[in-house]
Amino acid sequence: MKKLFKGVAIVALCLVLVVVGLILNNRICYAMYDKADVDLEVLTDAELETAASIFAYLSDHGGAIFDGFGELTELLLYNRTYEFLLTDGVYEQGWETLGADGRTGKTVYRRLSEDPKAFAVKIGDRWAGSFCTQAYYPVSLLEQVPVFVPPQLFLLDDIAYRSVVVHEMAHALQGNRDNSRLEQVEGLHNVNSRYDGDRDFNAFMKKEGKLLEEAMSLTDHNELVSKAGEFLASRDSRRTDCGMTAQEISDEKEYEWLEGSGRYAEYIAADGSRTTSSRGLDQNIAQKAAAQGVDRYYALGMAQIVLIRNLDIPDWQPKLFYQQYAPEDVLREYLRK
Ligand SMILES: [Zn+2]
Repeated sequence: MKKLFKGVAIVALCLVLVVVGLILNNRICYAMYDKADVDLEVLTDAELETAASIFAYLSDHGGAIFDGFGELTELLLYNRTYEFLLTDGVYEQGWETLGADGRTGKTVYRRLSEDPKAFAVKIGDRWAGSFCTQAYYPVSLLEQVPVFVPPQLFLLDDIAYRSVVVHEMAHALQGNRDNSRLEQVEGLHNVNSRYDGDRDFNAFMKKEGKLLEEAMSLTDHNELVSKAGEFLASRDSRRTDCGMTAQEISDEKEYEWLEGSGRYAEYIAADGSRTTSSRGLDQNIAQKAAAQGVDRYYALGMAQIVLIRNLDIPDWQPKLFYQQYAPEDVLREYLRK
């Protein structure tokens, strides 16, 4: 009995030590990052240099992600107090002009940050990708994650940070090409969350993810076609077996279009990153698809776009961005021919 008591006491002590260690780690990180001034009235030199490197990346490589992606001219970065718009355009209403910036070649505008979004924001008649500044990112992270979660899990190296900004800029591209579609899809939240605890639904999702994951490693065209067919058939079975409504089906397709495109751009732009989550964007799709929550649609949408690209389907981009196709619609039409 004494031995048992001693064993339990040792386990309890270890657990307490682990929790205290995690909390200490979190607080030390916060103390480190909180020194950064995240309420500055201007973008710092480092932030402007990062913005310049993102525009340069997009100009050099954006076209290899999506046609015309390199021609995006706007980016919105926010710290805890202000939003900064970098643009070639002229904006007066609601914006204070800070002037021309030589590093990015853009004009910088500022306004108080009231409802900052890691997404795209419509400014005038154009959409701008919007994300927090590189200095504010770890601070905002530490303000959001629970105190016993190691923030190191979510920290981004420079390439990973760039890739996340490129993800948000892909949403701007979607909005500039089909404004009403983006405005509509922007309102989708918690898509199909009523199935989160549904074992059949999750098993089907896992299978769809697995098939797309297998397709990632294929190069033979016929094998790719056959895998795409299996994926679509499995998806049809899920929708029938789970009794999904037409609205639920439409919501998941639109959400895959929205976040699959963003995640696809992020995945390409993350090439060379040492951040674990960014390096693994094309891995464990089955596991991601089986996980509850909307993140599954990011992974499934991205993997479908990789498959579409690898199948070399003609005109897939105009279909996705101008003709209201969801990724699976592009696959279905191709396989019918
Ligand atoms: Zn997104």
